[in-house]
Amino acid sequence: RFTLQNPSNKPVERIIEIGYPAMDQVEFFRPSALSQSDDERYDRQVTGDSVVGRQVDIRSIHALYRVVVPALSEQTYYIRLSGDSTITFDISIHEPMGFIDQEAVRFDSSALFFGIMIAAIIYSLSIYAVMRDEAYLLFALFLIGATTYQASMWGYLTFYLLPETSWLVNLCTITSLSLLVITLVQFSSYFLELKQKSVLMYRAGIVLQAAAAVFIFVSLIDYHTAIFLLMATAAIGVVAALIASVELWRKGIVYGKIFTLCLAAYAAFHAAYSLERIGVIELKDTLDGVFKIGFSIIALLFILVFADRFRRTTYQNEVDLKAARDDAITASRTKSKFLATMSHELRTPLNAVIGFSDIIASETLGPIGHPKYKEYARDIKESGAHLLYIINDLLEISRIEAERIVLDEQQIVVSDLLRRCTRIVDGRAQQNSITIHRADVPKVPYLTGDETRLQQVIINLLFNAVKFTPPGGHIYISATISPAGEYEITIRDTGIGIAPEDQQKILEPFIQIAPHLTRHHGGVGLGLAIAKSIVDLHGGKMRIDSDLGKGTTFVLSFPKDRVVK
Ligand code: ADP
Repeated sequence: RFTLQNPSNKPVERIIEIGYPAMDQVEFFRPSALSQSDDERYDRQVTGDSVVGRQVDIRSIHALYRVVVPALSEQTYYIRLSGDSTITFDISIHEPMGFIDQEAVRFDSSALFFGIMIAAIIYSLSIYAVMRDEAYLLFALFLIGATTYQASMWGYLTFYLLPETSWLVNLCTITSLSLLVITLVQFSSYFLELKQKSVLMYRAGIVLQAAAAVFIFVSLIDYHTAIFLLMATAAIGVVAALIASVELWRKGIVYGKIFTLCLAAYAAFHAAYSLERIGVIELKDTLDGVFKIGFSIIALLFILVFADRFRRTTYQNEVDLKAARDDAITASRTKSKFLATMSHELRTPLNAVIGFSDIIASETLGPIGHPKYKEYARDIKESGAHLLYIINDLLEISRIEAERIVLDEQQIVVSDLLRRCTRIVDGRAQQNSITIHRADVPKVPYLTGDETRLQQVIINLLFNAVKFTPPGGHIYISATISPAGEYEITIRDTGIGIAPEDQQKILEPFIQIAPHLTRHHGGVGLGLAIAKSIVDLHGGKMRIDSDLGKGTTFVLSFPKDRVVK
């Protein structure tokens, strides 16, 4: 009960504010305006979380009543409060103008706080969606917990979202507090690597989290006890998180420092707020704004910390990726170098084998006696030559892969080149009853390129054409300038063809489509890979066009700037 006296000769207007928003029921009694003569008559207005249809004079998160005390008189008012939670509250009496000022500050600071918190939640959730990094989800849940807790403590939950449902607001309060504890403990356990370092502490953390979850259910029976227990676990959670962040700081992780400061400030704010709620200390109403702005700044700092972490991890990923790529390239180079050296070492003795077996086979120094010996010597020579051919291919591909090939550029008379290549393959073609048709190619324009290597490519393609064309087939070779001005050399056969899905594959080293077919021809699947690489080195392209069973066409096209008129 309180009495307002008005000694002046004008009526005075005042606003009465009852400051604890989570009150279940607030009853306000004032002298009835209708029966001024009768002191015993009072009007009753009821509001609060559990009340349907709030009776207040001004809509706000707090209970507000506008009273007018007539001139030269006094009036007595009664307030009755009831609830199943803690009951601590402020009653303030404001002048109307002062009250409007205070409301404006409250509104601005709240808007700032919730705006930043919601932005931070969206921010960390979207980063989580992209990065799938657990830390961001944890941070988002922490912020959701903190925001909901604050919204319920300050009365916004009741006022805007869940009016007239005190049990639901209580449930939200306790659930959000529980979420806070769980995320804080999770955070500590995650960064302190408790699982690896101390199983006991890790288990203690899990017990704490489980307890925080269980308290939600306890609150349905005894809200008061549950909230006290939860506040105690929250205190432990905050201490654990603080230890974790100090540890990060000590490890020299830059954001560990800011994190520790944020967490410490948050813990201090929270402790003060909670202690006020349970009536241990008293905070001035003006502190409300300071608290909200401080909290917003902390949330902002948290975001900065996480932005820094985000930048660091993406940067780190890039660095890792680059290192992995460098390693792979080095490994591949080493392999190619090894192959090149080995092939070279293999060739030297092989040349001796071929040379001496040739001398024996041709009986240069006199007759051998048994004719079988002569046959064997020829076999040795042929096998040696075949081996040399394979080793040469290996040497070539490893040189290409080790980027050790320098083109010996010159002006090539393509008609001569084609004639030479055809002559070399002709013998084999005739053995297989295959006809090679060479189109007439004018001597000019010239093609600039490495003649030896291009000859190697064309011979390779021609031999393949012979290999994969049945007896009686045809091979066509020609060269033209395309409408786009490129020099194009075309080798077409009427052979077995290559299935569309294999056409790209066969350009890879060591790939053969029909090994059983190729085996008796020799070769290890390097020919086309080498051919393509050499054409690539010239800045050109190798195209395959093939119909299974009908034949294959290889087109080598060289860029315009290699054509010399
Ligand atoms: P190899 O030296 O073992 O023949 P290549 O790289 O020259 O290796 O050829 C790879 C594979 O491509 C061959 O095993 C064959 O299956 C296929 N191929 C190449 N040229 C032709 C062609 N003209 N017709 C059909 N298949 C071909």
